[in-house]
Amino acid sequence: MTPARFATLAVRGSYDHAESANHLGSLTEPAYLTTAQHFESTEQMHATVAGEREGWVYSRRGNPTVRFLENTVAALEGYQAGVRASAVVTPTGMAAVTAATTPFLSAAVGANANIVASPACYGSTIMVFNNRYGRERGVPVRWVEDPLSVAAWERCIDENTRFLYAEAPSNPMVQLVDIPALAALARQAQIPLIIDSTLATPALMRPLALGADIVVQSLTKAAGASGRSMGGAVIARHDLRARSQPAELTGDFAGYLRAGPMRDMGSVLSPFNAWTLLADIRELRARVDAMSTSALGVARYLAGHDGVAEVFYPGLATHRSHDIARRDMWLVDSDADGRAAVNRFGFLLGFRPAGGVHAAHEVLDRFNLVWRANNLGQVRSTATIPASSTQKQVADADPALAPVPPDMIRLSVGLEHLDDIIEDLTQALDKR
Ligand SMILES: *Cc1c(COP(=O)(O)O)cnc(C)c1O
Repeated sequence: MTPARFATLAVRGSYDHAESANHLGSLTEPAYLTTAQHFESTEQMHATVAGEREGWVYSRRGNPTVRFLENTVAALEGYQAGVRASAVVTPTGMAAVTAATTPFLSAAVGANANIVASPACYGSTIMVFNNRYGRERGVPVRWVEDPLSVAAWERCIDENTRFLYAEAPSNPMVQLVDIPALAALARQAQIPLIIDSTLATPALMRPLALGADIVVQSLTKAAGASGRSMGGAVIARHDLRARSQPAELTGDFAGYLRAGPMRDMGSVLSPFNAWTLLADIRELRARVDAMSTSALGVARYLAGHDGVAEVFYPGLATHRSHDIARRDMWLVDSDADGRAAVNRFGFLLGFRPAGGVHAAHEVLDRFNLVWRANNLGQVRSTATIPASSTQKQVADADPALAPVPPDMIRLSVGLEHLDDIIEDLTQALDKR
């Protein structure tokens, strides 16, 4: 039998006919909204705690509903990656960012650690690296001056660098990085390459297949598109190259996080949230395909509108990352049955209305269909001005690190009909 395709894995996850028999035949994964497991005997408890028998014990150690989500996420992100991978889910995307990075900063493997990272990152990620790691732990972050230049990355790496970190595409400037080239640098330095791929989702790009070692996802975004739950995920290939790190960490990094740091420190996803995210992730491929198709339509419309000064979208030839996006961003399985593969560039774009910051505020205020909100990847189109919202913390602390135009509107294109979205944009842009 051919291995299941992406859409099938998303729908089925690890919940097949045999598994359903363990849950009274339930057609969907039950929500185990419970804190602990009852044991039939002391002996059974002992064996389960020791891992000699299947079971989950206590929801901070693991929960069946949470595990179903982890299995599904691992299958999607590891799809056709050519490596073994496992996943752990977290209560938010930021918890995934910290879970994926903190273990590499351990003082036990030596002093003088540094981090090499792209500054084209989500505002809170920059705050974690600068404040939590830089200021509080004394681990300096070397921000790569031009993340599209592989040589610029190379110049920052030395024998004390613990990992490389980038977003692809980045929030909010939708910039990519050359993942295979950075993976080669990481391999040379014997350190992991960590990619936050929230904006691509595994439906469009799988960094593990491109050579990255660890992937971070905010499931709050397109994976959880109905907007009910926050969540995050760390997906790691097995047998990481991580200089001086113990084998228990490098063998199965996600499993290590689950059994060690996350269980100890208590950063676990609620089974209820896992259950709503499971329902959403089922349709990931079809949804991201539709949203990305509309986003390209919106980007082209805006690029041709004379009330718009600039559009940022990797699907436009004018975007700096266009060539890399064309190389790396494909709708998964669109090349089946000998058909030509289809590029898709995601659902997020930015644009600057002509007339500066004041005009941008006016346009944002005029939306009737698009929601003014700080979320993205939702079935509802949402818009914000990152410079005064998601990136504000960074801009206030260090303007050089937030090269986001103050008059840029970030638009996340949802599942509404394209014509209705464009009509809303038209009235917002033309009424001035
Ligand atoms: C939103 C976001 C995060 C953080 O996710 P939360 O679920 O809000 O904690 C991290 N990275 C990127 C690229 C994001 O867009």
